[in-house]
Amino acid sequence: MRIGFFSAKPYDIVHFNRTNKQFNVDIEYFDYRLCMQNVKLAEGYEVVCAFVNDSLCEEVLVELAKGGTKIIAMRCAGFNNVDLIAAERLGMQVVNVPAYSPESVAEHSVALMLTLNRKIHKAYQRTRDANFALSGLVGFNMFGKTVGVIGTGKIGVATIKILLGFGCKVIAYDPYPNQAVIDLGIEYVDLDTLYPQCDIITLHCPLTKDNHHLLNQMTFNKMKPGVMVINTSRGGLLNAFDAMEALKDGHIGSLGLDVYENEKGLFFEDKSSEIIQDDVFRRLSACHNVIFTGHQAFLTDEALNAIASTTLTNVTKLMLGQVCGNELF
Ligand code: NAD
Repeated sequence: MRIGFFSAKPYDIVHFNRTNKQFNVDIEYFDYRLCMQNVKLAEGYEVVCAFVNDSLCEEVLVELAKGGTKIIAMRCAGFNNVDLIAAERLGMQVVNVPAYSPESVAEHSVALMLTLNRKIHKAYQRTRDANFALSGLVGFNMFGKTVGVIGTGKIGVATIKILLGFGCKVIAYDPYPNQAVIDLGIEYVDLDTLYPQCDIITLHCPLTKDNHHLLNQMTFNKMKPGVMVINTSRGGLLNAFDAMEALKDGHIGSLGLDVYENEKGLFFEDKSSEIIQDDVFRRLSACHNVIFTGHQAFLTDEALNAIASTTLTNVTKLMLGQVCGNELF
């Protein structure tokens, strides 16, 4: 079995090579993002291993099928970039890694909250410049604040557990309430009830056709003035232009983004010597009360090991004609 591994980064290669000692699979790493322009590279690989910004639209899938690809192994939880209907029609199998380390993303979400709240990013810059003035660094106690968690699956639950440790009041929205969350004493409310009550709102739901731009000008207006908004889920859940306007008029007090709706071609790459053409991104990233991280919430040693191990188990089982349990249809 040969795996064509796209969007490969040094940390992927280290963790997959280490884990592959138990599997002994032939992996060819490509540092390119899979797209129509380079899909020919995948010719002859029965398995294509892809990540969040690889393009697996119908056009690309058709070319992959022509080249002999039978399995699309997503090495991530989200699969909004895969046309599952086209894949099924083409007779391909698609698998993902539904749970590798929900704590990695939950802890990063809370890191964004604490950084924005206690202005750690500003303090870091100031103290390096021997400026120990505290003006402009006033934060708030997390204790007693109300946090709205939208999406209460694996990452939502892990986030709730951390927030309860701070003494936050947590309320939640999910179309499919989770008994584990109810058992933690959390109340489920509808979004219109959640928005005005929360000091912090954090997104932990997948991006689907129905919730694109879930957070937009209309929903920002329903929130408490000065609210902190955190998105470590998928960029398309939040209208970045509307967020910029809401930051300008002070309706959003701070914004922490690990994902961005136009992150494809930007995140995971070194763009430090280029002029970023995306004006919304440039304006947002110039705000002192906005923090971007480049889709790194998953990036812990534990998560990378789990991703490698589940991905290689998935493809090995499928190649043997067995069920791996992570098939997407
Ligand atoms: P999960 O499947 O365990 O939970 C998702 C929850 O969202 C489910 O309970 C589901 O009912 C709920 N949901 C679905 N549609 C919703 C909606 N419209 N509104 C509110 N809730 C809704 O998934 P998970 O493992 O907790 O991951 C959540 C998301 O986090 C993934 O879909 C992915 O997009 C994102 N993620 C990001 C990173 C990162 O590095 N930034 C890493 C992993 C996952």
